[in-house]
Amino acid sequence: MSIIKLKNISKYYYNKGVIANGFTKINLEFSMGEFVAITGESGSGKSTLLNVISGLDTYEEGEMYINGKETSHYGETDFENYRRRYIGNIFQNFNLINSYTVYQNIELVLLLNGAKKSEIKDKVIELIKTVNLYKFRNTKVSKLSGGQKQRVAIARALAKDTPIIIADEPTGNLDSRSAKSIIKLLSEISKEKLVIIVTHNYEQVEDYVTRKIKMHDGKILEDKKIKDIDKNIKYNTNNYKNITKFEKLRLGIRNTFNIMPKFLLLLAVYLFIVVALMAEYSGFKEQEYIAENSGYNDYFQDTSDRRIVIKKEDKTSITEEDYQKLSNLDNVSYIVKNDILLDTSINMTDNNNFWIYGNAHNISNYNKDVDVGRLPKESNEVLVVGSKNDYYLNNMASELMKTDLYLQSIDTGEINKDLKLRIVGIKYTTSNNLYANSKIYLSDEAINTLKFEIYRKYSNIQVKFLDNYYTSDNSNNNFKVVPNNNVKSGSVYISGDLNNECKNNNCLGEKIQIEVTNLYYQDILNLTIEKTYDKKNIKNILNIDNYEDNNGCIYINPNDYNNLFNKDNYQSSIYIKDVDSVDTTISNLKDMGYNTLKVKDTLVKDNTSQMVKIFKTVVTICLVLTLFFISYFVIRIILKSRTVYFSTIRMLGATRKICKDLLIIELLNVANIAYFTFLIIIYMNYSNIINVGFIDTIIDYLKLSDYLLLYLILLGMSLLISMKFSKKLFKRSAITTIGEEV
Ligand code: ADP
Ligand code: MG
Repeated sequence: MSIIKLKNISKYYYNKGVIANGFTKINLEFSMGEFVAITGESGSGKSTLLNVISGLDTYEEGEMYINGKETSHYGETDFENYRRRYIGNIFQNFNLINSYTVYQNIELVLLLNGAKKSEIKDKVIELIKTVNLYKFRNTKVSKLSGGQKQRVAIARALAKDTPIIIADEPTGNLDSRSAKSIIKLLSEISKEKLVIIVTHNYEQVEDYVTRKIKMHDGKILEDKKIKDIDKNIKYNTNNYKNITKFEKLRLGIRNTFNIMPKFLLLLAVYLFIVVALMAEYSGFKEQEYIAENSGYNDYFQDTSDRRIVIKKEDKTSITEEDYQKLSNLDNVSYIVKNDILLDTSINMTDNNNFWIYGNAHNISNYNKDVDVGRLPKESNEVLVVGSKNDYYLNNMASELMKTDLYLQSIDTGEINKDLKLRIVGIKYTTSNNLYANSKIYLSDEAINTLKFEIYRKYSNIQVKFLDNYYTSDNSNNNFKVVPNNNVKSGSVYISGDLNNECKNNNCLGEKIQIEVTNLYYQDILNLTIEKTYDKKNIKNILNIDNYEDNNGCIYINPNDYNNLFNKDNYQSSIYIKDVDSVDTTISNLKDMGYNTLKVKDTLVKDNTSQMVKIFKTVVTICLVLTLFFISYFVIRIILKSRTVYFSTIRMLGATRKICKDLLIIELLNVANIAYFTFLIIIYMNYSNIINVGFIDTIIDYLKLSDYLLLYLILLGMSLLISMKFSKKLFKRSAITTIGEEV
């Protein structure tokens, strides 16, 4: 019985409305043991006929019988199964995987048929020996001659172990000697199989074939038996299984790195996507952050969203014990005890060449390195953080660091000559904004001096004298409180003019009360009038020369004076680690007996920032989508070079799912490598091995969830591309796809 029977089969090609004949009304039968040569001029329909027999192409009319069974109901998967079980193809242009070795090409067929790599080594070697290529088993196919390539193709067809071998002009690209040996090989094979070949050169094969078929214009012109054949050949169809998951993974990994330029190109595209997506996304987050934290505020200069201002509900000062408890609280990054400084800008100046401006900070809260000089050690040493664009800090740094500087009040311009400071370290910020982020880090002692100045400056001082309250301020001398070393503690000296207010023009022994009130505390100092001064005795008792300029002041002991303003902290700021859990932290603080204020909530916003945010969101979404589609098309163009590979393995029996899975593995490999490389870049930037600005932004603004999201996007994109690509690949018959690409 014939293994293949064609009955009235016709094949047409439809091309832009024109119908071309592949062949018409063909009737043929083929049996095992035959070695059939099909000849005929070019365009007579030989290849089309072989493709139909191979199940690689469809036909329009007639019936095909396989093993006596009719196939008109066959669908795509039925023909897939048929090809896998019955057909081994050999092509004029070999259709080998050029980037694989001889061994790998033959092994591939067996793997695709469900074999395990470790179990088929002997079989592969044996097949390579059969076609006489043992010497070349580990040579890449691209380095072989045409004859050698065709031998590989034959070994590959044999590896599949199918009853039918179909070869379309297998010797078309070979010299006559190689051609002869290939024909001989095929003739050997035909003793156990059915071999059908197409040839232009009948003389070359006539000694070997058992039958000759001549075609002309899509019809059979001649069908002649040349030799008798053994009618009783038993055969088994290929008992294929699907490729195992493990071998699929192994093949996918091999394919990833097999063609280095392709791998590098894909990696570059993926890296581009990762970096561009992350840069764009973190840029957006930064903008959003800036918009959220923009606005103005009359009281607070440091409006960080991490800052919570606290005061005790019972209005007492915050003790060291309190600070200890606060710092043990979850989510507390650090505490600024003298938080009043945060909202105080200071100048440091030599009153001659240098003016250095910034917010005051305690050096104990500084935990980075310096760019110039070193970290402060002594109490008079200062670290400055400021813009690289600041002329004093950058160009004049060495001069600046040799100069004694004094603190100057921004409001009054008053320079405190008591405190001599030296800048010993400078850290530059990348900010272009000259003064936005400048900070001055001071020792505890300097901070206390500054705090004293601030308490004094912002206090309301009332003097109670003879049951009347008098406001004391710096605008005039009336009741201005001045420290003087000649006055002893608890005493006060008043002017002779005031003395006249008392009974008998004598105030000595009377009480004076000094009342200090500010945002943070209230303090009362009770003093006894001990002496009165006038023009004559002022030099003697107070060591002051000029009476007129000082008349009206009240003089007290310097320690008493200091005690009025040298106070503990009544207000501090807590800086939190995680902004998202600020509400929990605040409720914890309330439970501990603190009043809290989220500084960020005090910002007054303008409406434009909201509009800007919407606009930015839209722009970001558009950019990300554009990026995605560009990358998608670039990857598809790169993958086009893989069409030959996938068409080839498809002809070797790989199903659509296998092709898709192999592609997914390949793309996921690249995606993972790209992502991992990206993480390494992030880490290198993080640990200062490299220094790229926009990567800093990524580090600053992206959270773990963002990294995960990006990873999922990459995986999703790889899956999508694999699916689309394999769908496109399988939309047309394998032979059309490969025909276009070769
Ligand atoms: P042969 O292999 O004998 O040279 P083919 O089988 O390739 O001939 O072609 C037979 C006929 O079918 C020719 O007329 C050819 O133009 C036509 N043909 C083959 N392939 C296609 C195709 N993909 N699209 C349109 N016409 C085709
Ligand atoms: Mg042809």
